[in-house]
Amino acid sequence: MFENKVVLITGSGQGIGRAIALCFGQKKATVALNDLPSQKEKLEEIKKEIEKNGGKAEIFFANVAKLEEVEKMIQEVQKTFGKLDILVNNAGICRDKTLAKMTTEEWQSVIDVSLTGVFNCSKAALPLIIQNRGKIINISSIVGARGNFGQTNYAAAKAGILGFTKSLAKEVGRFGVTVNAVLPGFIETPLTENLPENVKAMAKNLTPLGRFGKPEEVAFLVVFLASPEADFITGAEINIDGGLMI
Ligand code: NAD
Repeated sequence: MFENKVVLITGSGQGIGRAIALCFGQKKATVALNDLPSQKEKLEEIKKEIEKNGGKAEIFFANVAKLEEVEKMIQEVQKTFGKLDILVNNAGICRDKTLAKMTTEEWQSVIDVSLTGVFNCSKAALPLIIQNRGKIINISSIVGARGNFGQTNYAAAKAGILGFTKSLAKEVGRFGVTVNAVLPGFIETPLTENLPENVKAMAKNLTPLGRFGKPEEVAFLVVFLASPEADFITGAEINIDGGLMI
């Protein structure tokens, strides 16, 4: 289904981004893996796994918070693969504190990576995506819709992504480009691994399905939104949270 499609996934060295990259690889897409240089070994493993299954992948380092690095990355993707069809804005970070204790640095770094990163990558990739009537999928969070104790910075970034998604969907619909947001609940990744056990238990209690989601479950949704079957879906916010938002 994704033969001849090139997909770029930001922050794909681990967790949800890794699962998305592997899932696109299984569907025979050409995969552009992005992360910070600190994730080099993990990215090389993912590239190897995709290639082992007969797929194609390359690694492109860039800090999504830095527009110059992102512009260079998009140029390199274009040079390497000749085009770009699908962008998955997945890179995101948390720096949790109550507002009373949060420093300006903790606020700004989360906004820079998790929100401005989406702006930078979408802006740099958009001309290529428009050429191919492509798709942008943004990984937000249920925290962007409902807020969370100790996450004013993260909630603001993730809510910002929702407004960004709907506005860009309106701007680029005339080119046949779709832009959608995915809102995961609690998913088993390195990001949630270190939560205190009582917080994990509380999260499971609040989730009607009584468990954390798997990164692969988020990946299937993202791959669906990138497929031709989803051509009429745009500006949507899709929860994948075991019912936590009900
Ligand atoms: P993770 O921390 O396991 O992985 C995030 C990846 O992004 C890492 O490989 C990291 O190196 C990379 N990254 C961080 N800063 C970057 C930067 N400036 N430039 C490029 N790459 C960078 O996180 P995850 O749990 O896999 O989350 C992935 C996305 O899903 C994030 O946007 C997160 O906010 C969102 N999300 C996660 C959950 C969850 O429960 N895990 C829930 C809702 C939303």
